[in-house]
Amino acid sequence: MDLIRLLAQNIFIPLSRRREGFNTSEIVRELERSQFLSLDEIRNRQFAKIKDLLNEAYEFVPYYRALFKRLGATPNDIKSIEELSQIPILTKADIRNNREELLSTKYDPATLVPKRTGGSTGVPLHLYWDREATAFKQAATQRHDAWSGYRPGEKLAQLWGAFTGHSSLRARLYNYLVTRWLVLDTLEMTEENSFEYVEKLRRYRPPFLFGHAHSLYIFALFLEKNNIDNLGIRSIISSAEMLTDGERQKIEEVFGAEVYNRYGCEELSVVASECEQHEGLHICSEGLYVEVPDGDEEKPGKLIITDLTNKAMPFIRYSIEDNATVYNKPCACGRGLPRLKKLHGRSADFLYTPEGNIISGISIMDNFAIHIPGVWQVQLVQDALDHLLVRIVRTEQFGEASLRKLSETVPEFFGDRMRYDIEYVDEIEKTARGKYQFAISRIDKPN
Ligand SMILES: [Zn+2]
Repeated sequence: MDLIRLLAQNIFIPLSRRREGFNTSEIVRELERSQFLSLDEIRNRQFAKIKDLLNEAYEFVPYYRALFKRLGATPNDIKSIEELSQIPILTKADIRNNREELLSTKYDPATLVPKRTGGSTGVPLHLYWDREATAFKQAATQRHDAWSGYRPGEKLAQLWGAFTGHSSLRARLYNYLVTRWLVLDTLEMTEENSFEYVEKLRRYRPPFLFGHAHSLYIFALFLEKNNIDNLGIRSIISSAEMLTDGERQKIEEVFGAEVYNRYGCEELSVVASECEQHEGLHICSEGLYVEVPDGDEEKPGKLIITDLTNKAMPFIRYSIEDNATVYNKPCACGRGLPRLKKLHGRSADFLYTPEGNIISGISIMDNFAIHIPGVWQVQLVQDALDHLLVRIVRTEQFGEASLRKLSETVPEFFGDRMRYDIEYVDEIEKTARGKYQFAISRIDKPN
């Protein structure tokens, strides 16, 4: 029996939440109810929150005050949820250039929670959440976690990058009694350390594992290669990177566990995640309004997200620079929360055929990389409209058949005019945040 879990769930976690001043358990209870509302009811509630947000922004946020003035409009002119599209999109550059003007004058800055994005696109964003939004996001994460069976207080391993560690005694004690994380740093995931991670997992026996999609995959390959099984993991939440079908298959097979895909970001927290049906990702619609104006079930479109909870620094129609397809039909689980079908990553990483057709990195991985024998990892770098550099980390199985398959698949995806060279590497370099990139585009977007 896991005694610490009982203590954590009944004593330490409630105490620690009370100290933080966030009453998340009440919000979690409400979210567990509202997820089963009809889509119509969810939309009605979203619109009420949008009206409220627009009014606050108009009254207290200089940036939006000026924006409405420029438009010659007031929040009252937005009469339906669809009409929100009349508000111009908020870009990352807008946020960087108007950091002060985006802050609500209603809040005492000392009460706000600072956030900083990783800056995968080059420059980090600095932003603030108010306390209500922070509590809501904490609760929302908890609701989405619960779909995988995970509840706070359970033992959990994290395969995560750039972690500073629990250094002080106090932090270690807090982790031992409250958060209960076993952190396995992906930035140091060498072969030797991977054996050590296995030992730690065997000793700690966490039923839950969280991690970056690609790190989970690489760790699964390592376990498979060394015939390591029975780690006792039940559910895996994959996040922070796009999960390809091939990676998911491998992770589930090796761990013998279910994978729950999740999409989120530092500036908004959890955006969408899979339920037990594993058919697309339910959007956290009580807290976010997500538009995919130019996408549908087949065609990925840009995600435009309005944060319905954070009034201290409102993000209204924020362009997160990721793309997704959507599902229009309801999910078999009965939740009314709308779904994203699949994440397709950043527009910046999309590749192009010489004819100018767009190909997302994830569709390349789903469709071809996993079918080439002997490929451990692959990365495509487009350095000209008609040239690709294919970086490959090989296994012993890589040979003639692999080269033949590659010579068939490149034209299949990119057309006959695409030339390519192969570069064999020992590893694919990760981004500064320890993330893996499928595809890198070094060309200007063709018109
Ligand atoms: Zn569902």
